[in-house]
Formats: sequence, structure tokens, C-alpha cells
Amino acid sequence: MNKEEFLLREVQGIRYYTCRIFESMPQVRHGFSTRCCGAPDPKSDSFNLGDVSWDFPARVSENRRRFLSALHLENALLITLHQVHSNHVHIIEDNAGQWNPADGDALVTRVKNAALAVQTADCLPVLIVDPMNNAVAAVHSGWRGTLSRILPRTIRVMQRAFDSDPSTLEIAVGPGIRACCFEVGSEVADLFENEYPGCCSAMDQSGKYHLDLAKVLDIQMNFSGILRHHRHDLAVCTRCKQDEFFSYRAEGPAAGRMMATIGLASDEAGKW
Ligand SMILES: [Zn+2]
Repeated sequence: MNKEEFLLREVQGIRYYTCRIFESMPQVRHGFSTRCCGAPDPKSDSFNLGDVSWDFPARVSENRRRFLSALHLENALLITLHQVHSNHVHIIEDNAGQWNPADGDALVTRVKNAALAVQTADCLPVLIVDPMNNAVAAVHSGWRGTLSRILPRTIRVMQRAFDSDPSTLEIAVGPGIRACCFEVGSEVADLFENEYPGCCSAMDQSGKYHLDLAKVLDIQMNFSGILRHHRHDLAVCTRCKQDEFFSYRAEGPAAGRMMATIGLASDEAGKW
């Protein structure tokens, strides 16, 4: 883990990671949730925040409410997606009324009190801040989304919609499956190696390759003009650290979902 750039917070009984540079920005509220600690039992290790078939919608709603409160985003409208491993980016233009989740894998906004959230359990969550234009984004980047360039596309959308300058963007990559555990077959390895040479290890004894999705994101950030010192990677593997994170590869359909959430508050109260 990158201890220099990230902090483990515990607020109102909820544990989540934050990126230090994001914390230094007064209106930005954000966090990468862990599996600790779910309602109603504060010791529960199933702080599931995702739309999974095995959990009760009322409990998920309560967990989400608690998470937003712990992030000091209790007044924000939670914006989630039906994530489909696409490169579709949504621009959120108001925080009024109801939000009905649309298909897509990234959210961007300049509106205050809109909590952008992506749900993951191995896929890489990415949060972005544009400190010059007061804009934020949340991206769900699994292997399909990464291959279809969901992160570079999100950056492009921010450039067009908000006049964002990539050289001023700060980007945080959260907990997800890393090369140590991300075995893929030769078809997937070939797709990535063709575009991002060096992102897959050589075939191991079992005939599998190991894909380094974070490395692919890093190469994409090179092309997008993100400065190296503006890239922050928590660098923890969800499958290696099942005590702390949900992992779809480890737990299958019974896995819960973490949430990576970011929003702009309308005031600076309640900040660290
Ligand atoms: Zn691992």
C-alpha cells in the first residue's frame, strides 16, 4: 500500500481509504470503502454497498446512507450506475429529485452535492479531481472497460465539458485486483499486449498470464497527459486482502461490493 499518499480513516464506525491530496481540497469529499463495517452489526464485515441479489435492498440503502454520512456527503444525492463494462461516461448536471441509474461506467460533474459512486469487487475504481474547474469524476475500470479506454474517455469528456486541463488533474486509483492475482487466458492477454506491451507477465505453468490493469491505466494516463506526480495508486490487491475488501474472483457471486465515491460539498464544514 502507498502509505505516503493514502490514509485509512474510520468515521462513524465506517472504515475507508482517502487520498491525501484530495483531502487537502476544501470542497472535495471522497472515499474508497472497505468491507468494514456493515449495518446493523457494527462488527459485521459485510459493508456491502452494491446491488447484489443476495442482499436486502433496505440494508444496502442503509449502508449507503451511512457511508455518505461518514464521507460528510450526507446532503448529497447518490449517483450510481448500471455498470456494463463500457466506455460510456455520464455528465451529471443537477442534483435535484431522483436519480435513476443509467447504463455506463463513469460519472463526471461540477454540480455540488452530487455523490458520484462506482461499485467494485476487483475492478479498479478511479477518482478524479479537477482543482482548477471544481470538477470531479468516478470511473469503473475492469478489464473490458479498461480495454475500451473508459479512463481516457472520461478525461476527454472533462476536457470538453469543463475545459479541464489534463496536466492539472489529480487521479487516485483505489483497491482492485492486481497482477499478483489477475490470471487471464491468452485471448485476453493478446488483446492487451497488442496495445500495451509489457502489461502481461509471461505464461505461468498453468498456462495463464497475469494482467497488470493498473499498469495499463498508467500507460493510458501517459497518453492523456496526466502528470506522474498527479497519479496516486493505493496499490492494494482485493484478492490478496480479503479480510479488508470484497473480491469477486475469491468469493464469486456471494461477494459484496465496495464503493468509490466523490462529491463536491457546498460548504467546507465537517472537513478534516
Ligand atoms: Zn493479489
